[in-house]
Amino acid sequence: MSTKVETFAFQTEARQLLDLMIHSVYSNKDIFLRELISNSSDALDKRRFEAVKNPELLAGDPELRIFIEADREKRTLSVADNGIGMSRQEVIDLIGTIAKSGTQEFIKKVKESKEQELSAELIGQFGVGFYASFMVADEVTLVTRRAGEDGATRWHSTGDGTYTLEETERDEPGTTVTLHLKDHDAEDGLHDYTQEWQIREIVKRYSDFVAYPIQMDIERTEVERDDEGKPVEGAEEKKVVKTETLNSMKAIWLRDKNEVTEEEYTEFYKHISHDWSEPLHRIQAKIEGTLEYRILLYIPSTAPFDLFQVGGQQHGVHLYVKRVFIMDDCQELLPDYLRFIKGVVDSEDLSLNISREMLQQDRQIQRMQRGIVSKVLDALKQMRDKDEGKFARFWKQFGRVMKEGLFQDHDNRDTLLDLARFKSTHDPEELTTIKAYVLRMPPEQESIYYMTGPSRKQIEDSPHLEAFKEKGYEVLILDEPVDEVWAQAGFTFEEKRLVSVGKGAVELGTEEEKKKADEERKEKEKNYASLLECLQKKLDDHVKEVRISNRLTSSAACLVSDAGDISPQLEQMMRKMGQDVPTMKRILEVNPNHPILEKLQAIFDANHDDPVLADYARLLHGQAVLAEGGELPDAAAFSKLVSDLMVKSL
Ligand code: ADP
Repeated sequence: MSTKVETFAFQTEARQLLDLMIHSVYSNKDIFLRELISNSSDALDKRRFEAVKNPELLAGDPELRIFIEADREKRTLSVADNGIGMSRQEVIDLIGTIAKSGTQEFIKKVKESKEQELSAELIGQFGVGFYASFMVADEVTLVTRRAGEDGATRWHSTGDGTYTLEETERDEPGTTVTLHLKDHDAEDGLHDYTQEWQIREIVKRYSDFVAYPIQMDIERTEVERDDEGKPVEGAEEKKVVKTETLNSMKAIWLRDKNEVTEEEYTEFYKHISHDWSEPLHRIQAKIEGTLEYRILLYIPSTAPFDLFQVGGQQHGVHLYVKRVFIMDDCQELLPDYLRFIKGVVDSEDLSLNISREMLQQDRQIQRMQRGIVSKVLDALKQMRDKDEGKFARFWKQFGRVMKEGLFQDHDNRDTLLDLARFKSTHDPEELTTIKAYVLRMPPEQESIYYMTGPSRKQIEDSPHLEAFKEKGYEVLILDEPVDEVWAQAGFTFEEKRLVSVGKGAVELGTEEEKKKADEERKEKEKNYASLLECLQKKLDDHVKEVRISNRLTSSAACLVSDAGDISPQLEQMMRKMGQDVPTMKRILEVNPNHPILEKLQAIFDANHDDPVLADYARLLHGQAVLAEGGELPDAAAFSKLVSDLMVKSL
């Protein structure tokens, strides 16, 4: 066998992360062992899972286990498993590269955070897995053999920006990670990771529930004893080595709640989610009836970086069947909008041979999904009612995802709308619920008003809100991309319709006021009819109608859509996603009380064909586009019109 050693450079992000770990400010170094054990446990899960399809991978029925070995003289500590292992290419892709999206921004944030505590917290949120080893080791070696392959690969690095690879041998599939421990950690005696009691304690604290035995050879000196257990006189002390299992392997979700400490629940969360921070909330239940299953689910305290990226989010919900691990990240158990939830679902009814392909059609899974969703939503309602602050923290992190449920989950739409929080013109700081909005509505107000747009500021400044401000009507500010999508669907809450302030005609006030406003509008429309028609013709490429507005008090014009039309922002979003959407022509509404209209009427009366009418029509349209933060159809032409106008008036 060739023993060629090849040197590779870490990918930039990986090198930067390694640097962070080597000069780590993370005070709890013990967790490096938890990370290695979690990786081993995942690898064992994978070997078992792949063996369902390919039994060869478990030929000889080996006992799946994790083995820890420490050498006090050499100052090494190794963690070995007989899991799935890695091929040479996998080592390059998985160990030398960080594929996590958002890594760049994360590293930037850590570097910018001057306070040590803050950067430690950030590192915790990100979780750096295997690289945590470099907090305690100055040299790391990994020997791995992929199950189903013969050769093995040896990876070695001192964390200096490069690593080496060479071919090697390993008796069985799996991975051994060996750390050469830094000296200074041992000096205080508290961090000597070669000491049996230290290892025992760390395993017990962080990895007790791991479903595979975590073993270690323990050396004891023994003296021969007689039947009564007394040392035999004159017998010499002998050294004996026994393999001991350090963890209890008890499935934490099966244990009595009163027996499990908060710390144990938290550690279990960290183990399955690969998150270093505490979870925000735990949801636990035993469901009985036609389908029986247990759930132990967690809501993280922070949204992961890749929550909105395709293919992001890996460590989701683990599926067990009768306490046997089946698969991790079982996406069929939760709808997309709850994809941030982590934990375990253990079913009594599913088949042990269930595969990913079967899951999608499985009716039991679909029913379980409905049951789990209702438990999660109940838990959220309870959280809201009992602990307002906690719910607010939850919504800040996950509100954007939860809103996807408003169009994904018809059965729970009302519940989701009831939970949701929105920005509003009522209070610049606090979010509101729709219920609170409805309570504040004046008696004559019939609908719940909202406006979508790219930012709070743009929405608040938009001319569409003028009449609402004047009347003192509150408007919900929907400034997230997801809002465009769900709001489109047309909701009602307690029999009140949600209505966009940018769509359809606006009628505000008491019946009497509405009637009066309508009559006035009709009158104005009659007076300005020919001018409006002329303007519409000049703008025919862009708008389908020019009409008198009821929603403007100070601006000259604004653009609105018909009630059933999709908003221009949604149109833009759909186009970005590569969908073929026709351009929707909108309606230009003009303010009948604005001096511009009177002046235009005068020009029009003097000469119906005056060419400046076309220019003014374009200016009116252009500024209405700008006022709502839109993109001008021809910016250069618009800007020329403005400068011409300035020359004339200066
Ligand atoms: P994470 O575990 O959060 O994905 P790590 O940096 O700890 O990040 O590990 C990166 C990847 O390397 C893992 O996702 C896994 O695919 C692979 N890996 C790490 N340790 C092992 C192991 N003991 N056996 C097999 N694969 C492993």
